[in-house]
Amino acid sequence: MRPFEESHTFASHNDFQFVCFVLRNIYQFSLILQGVTMHINKISVKTGSRNEMVDITSLVQKEISNAGVEDGVCVVYVPHTTAGVTINEGADPAVCTDIIQKLNDLVPPNAGYRHMEGNADSHIKASLMGSSVTVLIENGRLVLGTWQKIFFCEFDGPRTRKVSVKI
Ligand code: ZN
Repeated sequence: MRPFEESHTFASHNDFQFVCFVLRNIYQFSLILQGVTMHINKISVKTGSRNEMVDITSLVQKEISNAGVEDGVCVVYVPHTTAGVTINEGADPAVCTDIIQKLNDLVPPNAGYRHMEGNADSHIKASLMGSSVTVLIENGRLVLGTWQKIFFCEFDGPRTRKVSVKI
């Protein structure tokens, strides 16, 4: 390659990097001006049995308080294929017991599934519950109904799991 081409290529690459750098900073600065800052955090959840619903509402609320976000939207996402997340009643623990019992009735283990790992029921239950919930934030608090709680749903425990919270 001739020296001219070399230096030209090098300069273009640098220019591109510099433009990206400037644009990224302008974008982030505009978010700060609007009072918008993105936060993502991971919560660790320890489960104690194969099927279990763990109330993680206070852990999610803690992430919002730590982030100092007053108004916005919070996405709670479970990056696992045999666990999920749902919002339901937290006042009477029998509700969670009933949900798990009914899921076990609907999706029994070892019912002629093809999945080689032997935990097809866990995967199916995870899909039934879903892998994320979205909750509004107002005045620094999760906007939940009186009886609502956010539950991490374990279907292949006991394990230590991760839950991502994006605010
Ligand atoms: Zn599997």
